[in-house]
Formats: sequence, structure tokens, C-alpha cells
Amino acid sequence: MASRLRCALSVLVCFFTLSQILLVFFAREKRGDKIREDVISLFDRKLLLMKAYNAKENTLQLAMLDHPRKNDTMKRQIKRRTDTLRQSQVLSQYTTQTVLVERTKPVCSIPKLDAFSKDAMKHIKNVSKLKCRKRYISQVEDKYLTMHVDDVSAAYFEYIERPEGNDNHVTYSKGIALIDENKKSGNGSLKIRHKLTEDFVKVTIKRDGKTNTEYHAIIVPKGNVIEQANAAQEGGLKYNVAMLMVDSQSASNVKRRLRKAYEYLQKDENTFIFEGHSIVGDGTTAQLSAILAGAFEWDFPESRRGFPGGKHIDDWPFVFKNFKRWGYVTMFSEDEPMYAAFNYRLYGFKKQPTDHYARPFWLESKSDHYVEGICHGENPIHMRSFDYLMDFHDSYTKNLKFSLTILSAMIHDDLNRISNIDDDLLKFMEIMQRKGHLDNTIFILFGDHGARFEGFRETMTGKLEERLPFLSMTLPKQFLEKHTEIKQALRHNRKLLTSFFDIHATLHHMLTYPAQPTVKIGQSLFNKIDPEKRTCEAAGIKEHWCPCLQFLSKNTTDERIISLANATVQFINENITGAIPQAKSMCSVLKLASVKRAGQRVVNERVRKFKQTAQNIKCIECDVILETGENSRENTTTYEIVFSVTPGNGVFEATVKVENNEIFAHPEISRLNRYGTQPHCIQKEYPSLRKFCYCTK
Ligand SMILES: [Zn+2]
Repeated sequence: MASRLRCALSVLVCFFTLSQILLVFFAREKRGDKIREDVISLFDRKLLLMKAYNAKENTLQLAMLDHPRKNDTMKRQIKRRTDTLRQSQVLSQYTTQTVLVERTKPVCSIPKLDAFSKDAMKHIKNVSKLKCRKRYISQVEDKYLTMHVDDVSAAYFEYIERPEGNDNHVTYSKGIALIDENKKSGNGSLKIRHKLTEDFVKVTIKRDGKTNTEYHAIIVPKGNVIEQANAAQEGGLKYNVAMLMVDSQSASNVKRRLRKAYEYLQKDENTFIFEGHSIVGDGTTAQLSAILAGAFEWDFPESRRGFPGGKHIDDWPFVFKNFKRWGYVTMFSEDEPMYAAFNYRLYGFKKQPTDHYARPFWLESKSDHYVEGICHGENPIHMRSFDYLMDFHDSYTKNLKFSLTILSAMIHDDLNRISNIDDDLLKFMEIMQRKGHLDNTIFILFGDHGARFEGFRETMTGKLEERLPFLSMTLPKQFLEKHTEIKQALRHNRKLLTSFFDIHATLHHMLTYPAQPTVKIGQSLFNKIDPEKRTCEAAGIKEHWCPCLQFLSKNTTDERIISLANATVQFINENITGAIPQAKSMCSVLKLASVKRAGQRVVNERVRKFKQTAQNIKCIECDVILETGENSRENTTTYEIVFSVTPGNGVFEATVKVENNEIFAHPEISRLNRYGTQPHCIQKEYPSLRKFCYCTK
């Protein structure tokens, strides 16, 4: 009974979705590209709502958050029509992008994952709000260290500095007394204000016999940096670049767990969210090597700890250097110093790689946030990163800026924790906007890869999520108005397979524009990617990471294929033309004539069998461990079937999913041949049914 009801509900939602999809679909020619996006988003949204309605309460709440306005009406509609519906095939939630693309199909078919699938939702739980209790006594305002004290017996601060040539230790400046222990403030309160001249400060305060240690990070603009910037190379686009990485965030997990930030980006017409963005290797370092240096780690001289001849990575062609030469002030901050991308397995930098480099701050203050868990004083540690990045933009008002900020400490081990960042990330983006920083900044928000922990990673959904990290690019409005060719390219590319090598090429393109950048792998996202040439290989993605779905041909006389085609024809008769009584009486009942082509969409064998990479502290991707059998947890099969019907000889292409022996037809069924005057009887009243209707009279 429950499953009958579920199906019925699903069919109903399918109707709503379908009628709108079809309407939109047929208007496509006039409005071009925009339509396809509407179709996709419409489909996704209704689908989400449907699933939510069917599933547990917590999922429903998620959906309500997502679409608060529509939710009530939809619920009423669903309730009203439930009784009249029969069990039937329902729409698919797991389909490929190929059906959404018109004439030229990309060689890479990207799996369209359902972020709220059962597999994924099993690993989702709500996390409590962060409570950071410890209050700091000292503050930084306007580059001044300030304190309002009454019962402090002594206070002094030191600057946290980076020792020459050492990425793993810190040194301190001489302590600077704020209150002398011997000259206690005594009675009454005391206001202290001290101008800071360096970025990172450790403050020690003695009160009630206890010693408090507090840390601050700010940007103090450097005179020599500004001088160098002023004497820089000409050319390029001359926009700031702010890259913000959230560790382990797949595109799906951002949809699930950063709902507010995601919705904000989705609504923003200057933001492009890439739907086929793929990793290029295992873990964080592989992706950052691609972004920053345009190559794999093993393309450079040995830099792994403990290996003969291993050395620091300063010689790698990091884009920091290029931006620097072009007059940018540079900044790099990674909040997890122990497992840092270039320091955990590798030797890291000898010379600090950017003008402002937060590693010493994170190294020194880690003891503080380790004790507190995820807080720095009264602030969650991600706020430290947001504030530092904001201060970078506030402080260098007249200079071009390039930065990479990595949020990792709080989130890399927990799929759910990221939701604690949602409100603050949204606020951060809003403030960046309000202050006008986004008027001259290209803002790139990305996850390096999806979740990598066991369990989830063993499911097919988990494997694909790991391979499809989040990527969005927000560009200034006037930039997009000025460079319409870039805008078009970004719109085009976001539906295709992209990789971190493309980000590298794009960064270089910002500097060489209008000339093309010279890169070994990938291409600039400011140029249209040729879908017919975009393979994983072309994007620098090895087979066992490649998310593209392969097409395995099936015999057209195969019994199973014929039964799926029959089910799809039945779906058209009952749920498309049959959904409208008047149309039902005027359109012929269609019958399957023959199956013309059929195939299955599957991930490649090396992804299917992928278990893990053989990796340890000394070796990254030494080898790939594959399972001996097929992955047994894949319980969904997606087929593409081309078939003809009678009467009228209409030829259709449909995507059909089989899950636990239930058949799900995707409602977006394409007609591949002309329908001519066949639907004359309904074409005015029900134009959306034209491709399916063969008039009886
Ligand atoms: Zn990572």
C-alpha cells in the first residue's frame, strides 16, 4: 500500500512537472539556451519536493526550507489529486544530462546525481549550532589592538612571525607590554589602544592568577608590496581574484548542507555553477597542484618528506608568482596547518609563497582551537578566515588582489559540519557584495573533492559525489556586460565536464587576456569547450576518477529492452496524453512498433570497481585498489532507448531507470522525427502534447 501511494504521488508530481516542462520545452526555439536551464531547474525543484513529500519528516523540512512559498500549494495539490491516480511508472531522479542537450551530444555524459538520494541521506544528520563560549578580552579594531580592562594584572603581546626558510615553526617578536605587571592598573578601568604593524598577534593576559592567550589575524598593508605592485607588468583583465575552498564538499553536499549559500549563488545572475566539475586526482593536494601549478605533483622534482633528494616546492610554477608579476598583492590562508595541502606529505615552502601568508598564525593558534574544538575565542574558526579575507579586500583598496583561502579544520572529517558555516558564508558573500568588493573581484567558491570516508565512498552515489566537487564562479556584473563572449562561454561550459586544470588555465587567462594562456592540460573556461572533444583525458582526469557515463549498446530484440520500451509507451498513453481527458479522447493510443537503438548508461569499469588508492604518508596514488567483483551496491540501471510507435511512426528517445525492478521513465521524452500535421486536433488547445498525439480524426 505504501509503495502504491508513493508511486501515485510521484506520478502526480510528474504531471505538474511534465506539463510545465513541456510548455517550456516547446517555447525553447524563441528563447534559446535559457529554456534548457529552466527545464532543468524546474525538474530538479519539483522532484525535490516530491521526494520530500514521500520521505521522512526531516527531509520534508529541508525541502520546505528550499521552497517555502511553493510548498503549501504543492502539498494541497498533491493531496487533492492523489486518489484519482493509479500506480504507474514515475519519473527518474537519477538520469543523465544527455537528454537535456540538443543536437550535439557531449562525448562525456555527466551523471546527474540526486543530492537527496537514499544512499546519501543515510549519512546526513543535523548538527547542533556552534557555541563558542570563551570570550576574548582583547579585540582588534581598525588595526588597533584594544582592551577595556579593569582587573587585569598584566598584559603583553607578541607578533607571530615566520622564521626564514621554515614552514613548520613560528618565532615571536619581543613582547610588547600593554600593562606593566609592576604598575598594575589598580582600581578603575583602563582603555588600551595599540597600533599593530604586523598581521598576526598573540596576546597574553593575566587575570585572577590565570593566564589567557588570545590570537588575532589582520591584514597590515606592506609598503614594499605596494611599491612592487605599482611597478608591475601590464595587460590582462585587471580584476581581483578571491578563491575560497571548502574542503570535501561535493556539488551534492553543498546543495544539501549549504542550502542558504547555494540558493544565494543559484539566484545570482552573475554566478555560474558548474555541474560537471570533476576532480583530477586523490585528495586535496592533487586538486590544488592542478589549480595552482597546472600539473600533477609527480611532474615536479621530488618533494615528499623522507624521500631521497626531496626538497621544498618553491620552484613549482605557482600562479601566485604570475599574479605577483602582474601587480597583484597575494594572500594564502589554510586553517588546518597539520594536514595542510603542501605540508603534510610534502616539504612545503621555504620562502613564503604569498605577500600575506597565514600559516604561522594557524600553526601557533592551533593549540587554542584544538582545545576549544572548533572555536577561536568567541568565534568559530571559519570566521577567522572570512574576516582575514575580508580585511585583505578592505585594506588594499588601490591594488589588485589574488587570494586562496581554505576552510578545512572544522569540516574535512564530517560531511555534516559544513552546515555550521552556511549562515556565515552567506553573510560573508552579502557583505562582500555590499561593500562593493564583488564589483571588481572574480569570486570562486569550490570544494576540492567530495567526502572520502568509508561507507559512503563505497556506494556508487558516494563514489560519484567524491568525483564531482562543487564549483561556482561569481563575476562582476560590469565584467560580464563588457565581455559577453566570456559570459556565453561560462554558460556553455557549466553543463560540460570541467576540471581543476581548467581553473588553472582560466587564472592564467585572466592575466594574458585577450591572448590565450599557454597551459599543458585543460583550457580556459573563458573559451567555449568543444563538447565533442571534451573527454576525461582532455581535462586531465584519469580513468578511475572519470565521472563520465559510458554507453553500453544493448540488443534491440532483448526482452528486457522491449519491455522497457513498452512501459515507456504506456507511460505516454496514460500519463502524458492520458493525463488530459479531452486529449485522451482525441489522440490515438500508441503501440510500440520497434526498438531502434538501446543502451545502458554506466560509469566506467575502473570507477565501478574502484575501492581506494594505495596511499600513505610517503606515496600518493601509487596504485589503485579495485574490487574483484562488480560493485554490488549499485542497484540502479539507466537505459536510453530509441523506439518507434504506431500509428504515425513517431520515433522517440527516452531515458528509463530500473531500480529494484521498478521502472521509472524520465518525463522528458524527445521526439526524433517530425510530427507534421499529426497532432492537428489538439495543437491549439494542448500544444505541449504535439509530439505525442496522433489524432484519431
Ligand atoms: Zn580535501
